[in-house]
Amino acid sequence: MGWPARVGWALAGLGLGGCGEGAGGGSAHVGSRPAPVVIAASCTVDGVRVEVERGVEGGFGGESPCSYSGRFVSVWRDVYEERWGRVPLLESWTVRIRTPERVDGLGHSGLAWYDERLIELSQLHFELLPHELHHARQGKASTAHRGWCADFVPWELERHIQDERAQLGCDT
Ligand SMILES: [Zn+2]
Repeated sequence: MGWPARVGWALAGLGLGGCGEGAGGGSAHVGSRPAPVVIAASCTVDGVRVEVERGVEGGFGGESPCSYSGRFVSVWRDVYEERWGRVPLLESWTVRIRTPERVDGLGHSGLAWYDERLIELSQLHFELLPHELHHARQGKASTAHRGWCADFVPWELERHIQDERAQLGCDT
């Protein structure tokens, strides 16, 4: 596997996982916005802007939180791109790493905000980045995850990333 232990897939499934536009089960919250957070630092990793909320952990040896989180963003972006290719205009998006395990009141650990071109990700759930990148690729139309059961969910299962079949209503 070779993936960092900290982002083990066993962590997934504790919450609702990731979603687009603060949406759960495909119902968009019209007018909702990302929660205001205090950004401690930002950095650019492979051309993508990464922000870390105040309180996000750094690495051993004094590695800054942004550098540390950025490495996980890179790892999971590579996993995604290996199968799905680069997300067009990803350089215009920001990946914001959040401190809490849940980044909204509905229990999501990852969110994609299309208008803001912002992905919010809990520092405990980097493994949700592929899901959010897929939203970024497909845009607002993907909020209902239509068609994901046919290709994206099986791919996540195959790569032991997470099992979203129940959450996304996939027939087994
Ligand atoms: Zn989603």
